[in-house]
Amino acid sequence: MGGQPMFILSEDSQRTQGRDAQSSNIMAGKAVAESVRTTLGPRGMDKMLVDSGGDVVITNDGATILEEMDIEHPAAQMIVEVAESQEEEVGDGTTTAAVIAGNLLAEAEDLIEQDVHATTIVEGYHEAARIAGEAIDDGVLEIEVDDELLAQVASSSMTGKGTGGLTPETLAETVVAAIRHVEDDGDVARDNVAVHTRVGASSSATELIPGIVVDEEPAHEEMPTLVEDADVAILDVELEVRTGEIDAEYAIDSIDQLNAALDAEESELRGYAETIADSGVDVVFTTDDVDDRVASYLAAEGILTFADLGNSDAREVAKATGAKRVGALEDLSEDDFGHVDRVRTDRFGDDELAFVEGGAAAESVTVFVRGGTEHVVDELERAIEDALDVVATALDSGEVVPGAGATEIAIADAVRSAAAGIEGRKQLAVSAFADAVDVIPRTLATNTGRDPIDSLVDLRAAHESDGRAGLITDGEAVTIGDPVEYGVVDPADVKREAVESATEAATMIVRIDDVIAAE
Ligand code: ADP
Ligand code: MG
Repeated sequence: MGGQPMFILSEDSQRTQGRDAQSSNIMAGKAVAESVRTTLGPRGMDKMLVDSGGDVVITNDGATILEEMDIEHPAAQMIVEVAESQEEEVGDGTTTAAVIAGNLLAEAEDLIEQDVHATTIVEGYHEAARIAGEAIDDGVLEIEVDDELLAQVASSSMTGKGTGGLTPETLAETVVAAIRHVEDDGDVARDNVAVHTRVGASSSATELIPGIVVDEEPAHEEMPTLVEDADVAILDVELEVRTGEIDAEYAIDSIDQLNAALDAEESELRGYAETIADSGVDVVFTTDDVDDRVASYLAAEGILTFADLGNSDAREVAKATGAKRVGALEDLSEDDFGHVDRVRTDRFGDDELAFVEGGAAAESVTVFVRGGTEHVVDELERAIEDALDVVATALDSGEVVPGAGATEIAIADAVRSAAAGIEGRKQLAVSAFADAVDVIPRTLATNTGRDPIDSLVDLRAAHESDGRAGLITDGEAVTIGDPVEYGVVDPADVKREAVESATEAATMIVRIDDVIAAE
C-alpha cells in the first residue's frame, strides 16, 4: 500500500476509542440510573415528565420514567432496556435494576482507573452475579404462598405509588382477587386480567368486574340498560340503506313515487331488524354503522345494540363471550352466539360504558379503576398493573423473598464473603459488585431521610445477628427489622431478574472500547 494512508470510514463518522470511549459510555449509563434513584421505595418521590406536545405524565414508575425521557445516547439506552426487560419479564423492580446497573458501572469506572482490565471486571461481575443468585435462592421464604402473603407482595409493590385515596392494602386485596379469578391450580392466565380506568369518582370506587368493560354506548337511548342471561352476537355488517357503488339519481315526479321509494327504504331497514330479532339474540355488537331507524326498531324489540365497535373491542367481546363474528346478516344463527350472565350499561360523566359479565365472560376479569383526575387514574393503573404482575410472578414460582433492602444486604454479604476466596484482580471486581448492590439499602435510607452510611452499618450488624434485616417504612416510622414481620416481601424472580439484567447491561457497556458513530 506504499505508505498511503487508508481511510475506511467516511469523513463524517465520529470515532472514540480506549478509555475515552469507556468513560463516556459509563458516564451516560450512570446518569440514566441516577435519574430514577430518588423514586425508589416507599418514600420515593414522583417525577413529572412533560413531552414536546405539552402532555404531562406524573409517575413513580422507573420503566415509565425512562421510557418517557426520550434517551438518545446508545449506552444510556442500554440502561433503559434493562428497565424495559425487567418490566416485560416480571413487571416490577425496574428502578432497582436500573440503579444496580448504574452502580455496577460506577464501580467499574473505579476499577478501570486502578488498571483492572475490562475483561477481568466482566468475569468478576458474572461470578458475583452467580453468587448473588444463590443468595437469593437461600433467602426464599419457607412459608406457604397464600392470599395473605400475595396481598403483602402486592402492597409492597404499590407502596410509594400514588394510589389516590386508597390504601395499598385495599387495592392489594382487589389485585389478589383478580389474579385468583384467572388462576387454575397455580397457572395464571395473566392476559385475562384487564385494567379499565375511568375518571370521575373517588378512587375508593375501584372495583372488580367479573368480565370485561368496553367503551361503548347503546345505539339508541330507549334500549334496555340491563339484559340478563344474554345471547350475544357480533356482526361485521352495515345496518344502513344500501347505497351502492355509483351515485344514482332518480327522477321522482309524484308524491306516490316518493312514498314508494321511502317505503322501500323503510322495509329494507325493518328487514334488518326483523332478521336480528328472529334469530333470538339479546345483545348485538356491530363493527359497522347502524341506521337510526334500525336502532329504533331494535330498541322496540328490546335488543341492546352497540354500533361502530373498534376492532380491538370486537375482539375482546368475541374472546370474552365466545361469540363468533358474523360477516353477513343472512348467516346469523344461534351457533354464532356467545352467552353471558349479564350485559349492562352505565353512565359515567359524559360517556357510557358497557359491562359484559358472568357466564363465558367470567373467564376474564377487569379491575375497574376510578379516580379524581386523569393523572391519578393513570398512575393508579400503572401501580395496579405492576401489582398484578408481581402477584402472578409470585404465584407462578411460589417463591418470595424479604424486601426493604434485606435481600440486597444478604446478596452483598454473600458476595463479599466469597470474594475473599477469589484469586487475583478478579477479587476486586467481585467485591465491587457487592458494593454496587449496597446501593439499594443505601438509597432506601437516603429516600427516607436517613444517613446512608449509618443505616448500612446498622443493617449489616442486624443481618449478622438476626439473619434478616431491612429498613422498613411503617407508616411514619422507619425501623430496622425483619421485613417479613412487617409484610414487606417481593417475588424472588423480581430480584433474580434485576441482578441478571443489570449485570448483563453493565458488562456489555464495560466491554466496549471503541465507538464508531456514523453521522
Ligand atoms: P422498583 O421499580 O425497583 O420496584 P419501587 O419504588 O417500587 O422500585 O421500590 C421497591 C423497593 O421498595 C423494594 O426493594 C421493596 O422491598 C421496597 N419496599 C416496599 N415496601 C417497603 C416498605 N414498607 N419499607 C421498606 N421498603 C419497602
Ligand atoms: Mg416497584
